[in-house]
Amino acid sequence: MTDAAGGAGFTPRVFSGIQPSGNLHLGNYLGALKRFVEMQNNGIESIYCMVDLHAITVWQDPADLRNATRELAAGFIAAGLDPEKSILFNQSQVAEHTQLAWIFNCVARMGWMQRMTQWKDKAGKNQQNASLGLFAYPSLMAADILAYHATHVPVGEDQKQHLELTRDIAIKFNHDYGVDFFPITEPVIEGAATRVMSLRDGSKKMSKSDTSDASRINMTDDADTIARKIRKAKTDPDALPSEAKGLDDRPEARNLVNIYAALSEQGVDAVLSDQGGKQFSEFKPMLADLAVAKLAPISSEMARLMQDKAEIDRILHNGAARARAIAAPILDRTYDIVGMVR
Ligand code: ATP
Ligand code: MG
Repeated sequence: MTDAAGGAGFTPRVFSGIQPSGNLHLGNYLGALKRFVEMQNNGIESIYCMVDLHAITVWQDPADLRNATRELAAGFIAAGLDPEKSILFNQSQVAEHTQLAWIFNCVARMGWMQRMTQWKDKAGKNQQNASLGLFAYPSLMAADILAYHATHVPVGEDQKQHLELTRDIAIKFNHDYGVDFFPITEPVIEGAATRVMSLRDGSKKMSKSDTSDASRINMTDDADTIARKIRKAKTDPDALPSEAKGLDDRPEARNLVNIYAALSEQGVDAVLSDQGGKQFSEFKPMLADLAVAKLAPISSEMARLMQDKAEIDRILHNGAARARAIAAPILDRTYDIVGMVR
């Protein structure tokens, strides 16, 4: 984290979110959740959100969405987020997000949105049939962040472009209204696994919304399933190199090494100097054991927390009240700057 982030006068504050759009997976854990816990434990004020309004930009079955929101909250807590230290809540309970998003819809330009790779990937060839919400997604995401004047946003590599757009919205708002009101947020994209790839295709990121369950390791997979998915993960016939440059043009091999490095909290070079020369038939079982050792305690704690849904709802409700206390004055001031009679 750089000290200059956000510009002068903004207190460091972390915000990030995850969509309750299905199975929380290893990419979400290494690229996002694990980093959230580290930031919380560094003592920075941290606000983490289950972004349910983002999830419905593509169809979600209502009962599944409700369950996924609670399961995601359980995943946050099981991974080490403390709902007393951090603020944990679901987005739809704090109306300021959507209110500020409207203002940002009037700041952001159509051309900015059309350039977003997530829009292009998710809408695919049939953009005319995608929801307006999917198109406007980055504007709501900017509102999620800026409703708290957040200065730092830990995310995976895939969200970098949306963070740049958030900065563009803040800069344009500040410029158009002649204020220095919104901070220029810093993305925090760090670690060995900022972009975990699909186990079936080294050119695609691991995603909740991938139709192939074999493409990802879900946080709720049992030990046998994790071992089987890693054993079947696509690789090439060569042995592991002993230096990182030997992974050039070997995306699947690189992915497995990155995952090993992130899970074992070592650099890629350290992993390769130990494991270089091994065949995948030897390396994959080691990776599976490591993944099970790190994920099993989290998934069993998630299952335990899911037995008391009322307690999860209470935590989200309390988190929402604390979030609203920060966001409401910021929204009020925004309306005032824009010229709304209050
Ligand atoms: P969806 O497919 O529904 O978009 P997702 O798997 O991309 O789901 P999100 O909820 O969109 O998950 O993202 C939550 C966080 O996880 C973000 O910070 C994102 O950057 C991070 N993330 C998602 N996929 C990966 C990945 N494969 N590697 C590292 N980080 C990831
Ligand atoms: Mg995503």
